Amino acid sequence: MNLKAVLFDLDGTLHDRAETVRRYLAGHVRRFDLPEGYAERWTVLDDFGYRSKAEVFPQLVAEFGLKHNPQALLQDFSDHAWADCQPMPHSHEVLAELRRRGLRLGLVTNGWSDKQRRCMAGLGLADAFDTVVISREMGCAKPEPRIYTLALEQLGVRADQTLFMGDSPTNDVLGPQQAGMKAALVPGGHALPGHIRPDYLLQDLRGVLDTLEPER
Ligand SMILES: [Mg+2]
Repeated sequence: MNLKAVLFDLDGTLHDRAETVRRYLAGHVRRFDLPEGYAERWTVLDDFGYRSKAEVFPQLVAEFGLKHNPQALLQDFSDHAWADCQPMPHSHEVLAELRRRGLRLGLVTNGWSDKQRRCMAGLGLADAFDTVVISREMGCAKPEPRIYTLALEQLGVRADQTLFMGDSPTNDVLGPQQAGMKAALVPGGHALPGHIRPDYLLQDLRGVLDTLEPER
């Protein structure tokens, strides 16, 4: 594939969100002396981050019959969750290699501006991209077509020159394909519905390098 640009998802793709959350929950459980099973249930209710924590904590308090104020648990999440963001294996080497091959790089992520930018800084990726598109800053979110075309406009490339990489079948494969891009799915635990067909199904981030034209 003769590419000019690669657009990346952040959470579950370049950011090992599952590992970051595991580390946060270990501290959270210690700080509040939370019961066995709490961390596992938190992870289920969180649904890869798609569920608001303003709903998750009150539900946990109710389910486990806790005496804690849900607001205090939520504050702990704001204070600590993204303090030690973990990169996905190979993220830095893959971005550097794509850059070396002359590709434009972008990030398209759903989420809050502060949180996603703090995460990028923690991962050492604050300056890694030619454009960063965060849904809350733009007033549109994946998989709405507008968010993908905004990123393409900012990079000055066409959809058919661009590969999107991410772990969500809907947001990172179907949406980008409907906008005219090719899409590569990296494994992240999301089930792949039968009607969604990634152009590339990768084992890990390094697989993107095999989709490029060989160097001459
Ligand atoms: Mg993701």
